[in-house]
Amino acid sequence: MASPEETLRRSELSALQLERLNRQLSRLSESPPAIAERLASQGVARRPLADLEEVERLPFMTKADLREAYPLGLFGAARDQVARIQGSSGTRGKPTLVGYSPSDLTLWAEVVARCLTLAGARPGQMLHNAYGYGLFTGGLGLHAGAERLGLTVMPASGGQTQRQCLLIEDLRPDGLAATPSYALNIAEHFRAEGKDPRQMGLSWAILGAEPWTEEMRRAIEEAFAIDALDIYGLSEVIGPGVAAECREAKDGLHVHEDHFLVEVIDPETLAPLPDGVPGELVFTTLTRQISPVLRYRSGDVASLDHTPCRCGRTTVRMSRIKGRVDDMFVLRGVNIFPSEIERLVLADGELAPVYLLRLSQKGPLPELLVEVEALAGADGERAARRLSRALHDNFGVRMDVAVKPPGSLPRSDGKARRLVDER
Ligand SMILES: [Zn+2]
Repeated sequence: MASPEETLRRSELSALQLERLNRQLSRLSESPPAIAERLASQGVARRPLADLEEVERLPFMTKADLREAYPLGLFGAARDQVARIQGSSGTRGKPTLVGYSPSDLTLWAEVVARCLTLAGARPGQMLHNAYGYGLFTGGLGLHAGAERLGLTVMPASGGQTQRQCLLIEDLRPDGLAATPSYALNIAEHFRAEGKDPRQMGLSWAILGAEPWTEEMRRAIEEAFAIDALDIYGLSEVIGPGVAAECREAKDGLHVHEDHFLVEVIDPETLAPLPDGVPGELVFTTLTRQISPVLRYRSGDVASLDHTPCRCGRTTVRMSRIKGRVDDMFVLRGVNIFPSEIERLVLADGELAPVYLLRLSQKGPLPELLVEVEALAGADGERAARRLSRALHDNFGVRMDVAVKPPGSLPRSDGKARRLVDER
């Protein structure tokens, strides 16, 4: 049930990407001015690229470029061609806004529909969509893709977990869309009401918008007795729908390469990295009309894999996101992503799948406190000692572990906050 674009031979796909990239570049060499000027100054706008490798001659774009262009500076077309505006909430200051033409919205729905198909969704099924609706692209993005595929959509949005549980229990949807941390919050809520989330009739979930691990997948799959699949995207590229895992292999996220050209670079040297080596994901939109991006530095860290997938699709797969380039912290000279600690917390059978990392500095060196909760009936102190040992074995540095009472750590209504920097 893969679409024809997902099973092209590599040579056919490259030819299609090159043709689309050159068309995009020729559009961009005229507008928006911010990109046109930069292309002209690097002398790359005037002649088409001869092959995809030449993409390395193009300038990078960053979040700072988008912020600078706030509010509508990068829309790249007459304002009256913009059908929708979405954005990402800046952690500080103003949001980053992106625009969509009617055909961009169609493209977005199409790639999300592919992601849902990858997750095992079929026309006629029902999706409970617990992604937030609004400026954030999760809710409306999943919504349009699900409708395009022919699903019934429950637009539950985020929060009000009690109502979410009621709707799931009464409507018995086939699939759930949410952040992974919120999916676990829903399962926990069911159990607190004395109900078994495995009895709710769900068969798959499509989860994203925050980094998560194989251990988290296992916890969610066991909690609901479902297949849990990873979806990836960012509003600067399109929203959710840039890539997703297939249910057959669950081994990397297929990138929709006919619309998004992906590279992985070393965030320090900016040099391209080979398959299997994690680095910063960089995207170029090949078909988006409004708010196109060229070599956009996503800030997300993953690796690529071009080997064929068991499901028959030929598109490149990206690994799970290890974290954000700027979420990485350094403890005694060791680079650590919160997701690497999550792996160890969730691998412990006596700890609940929630955690909070507190980074502080009282003396000359930063200290990390890992806060966890023991499962009901478990020996918390023993679990803490075990986790402390596992963290030391894994990273070679000491971290403090504190066991908190059940239910005391913050639960996620959307994107989970994992790291509190108290320095
Ligand atoms: Zn596959």
